[in-house]
Amino acid sequence: MTFAASVLTLYPDMFPGPLGLSLAGAALEAGTWSLDVTNIRDHASDRHHTVDDTPAGGGPGMVMKPDVLAAAIDAAAPADDERPRFLMSPRGRRFDQAMARNVAEAGGAVIVCGRFEGIDERVIEARKLEEISIGDYVLSGGEPAAIVFLDAIVRLLPGVMGCNLSGIEESFENGLLEHPHYTRPRDFEGLTIPDVLLSGDHAAIARWRHQRAEQLTAERRPDLLTVDRNEKTTVN
Ligand code: SAH
Repeated sequence: MTFAASVLTLYPDMFPGPLGLSLAGAALEAGTWSLDVTNIRDHASDRHHTVDDTPAGGGPGMVMKPDVLAAAIDAAAPADDERPRFLMSPRGRRFDQAMARNVAEAGGAVIVCGRFEGIDERVIEARKLEEISIGDYVLSGGEPAAIVFLDAIVRLLPGVMGCNLSGIEESFENGLLEHPHYTRPRDFEGLTIPDVLLSGDHAAIARWRHQRAEQLTAERRPDLLTVDRNEKTTVN
């Protein structure tokens, strides 16, 4: 089954962009996922293809018009299209690994990229857009957020990662940040690889990695440890 992504944007040339290269690009070429890009401006009905207007009530910036955006959404995803619909928005729910997994399993997504001050509130309601934020900072447009969102989703699709196990042990997948990695040379500028990793003792290696993952998480992201997930061991 192909994961079907539709992106609505005023800057279609930004796609596939980085998603056309490396793992995501190879998966796109292989048909593991598809990307359909709609230029919102093509759905403006006036001669000047107007997509924005001044904010009701005054204030700086411009607001994306609801009628134009709704027409673009209806063209990309008619009412019987069951894919979840998202609006990239700093006001949205914070994107995380669990959401990436849910969307990957949903089989597709319709993604609206905002620009200007934002989009008319009524289209969010009328077209049932779920607002998603990629972090607490403000971008100039939703396109980089859509690329981040899709990148995290696409790498979870079956067959995209070379080794499926690497997806399971990663940061956030088990409520912990990942353990440190090492590779040759054994001595790099006087810094050596921890002995246990060269011991060949797989149980000891697994224990060490888990311990380091817990330690790193406690140091850097103690908030992750307070989330009660499965029967994860906690760190003092
Ligand atoms: N005035 C708005 C910001 C608009 S930024 C506010 O204060 O909330 C313009 C567009 O960039 C937004 O419509 C959204 O699509 C996108 N964007 C900005 N920051 C984002 C973030 N952290 N996550 C996802 N999308 C973001």
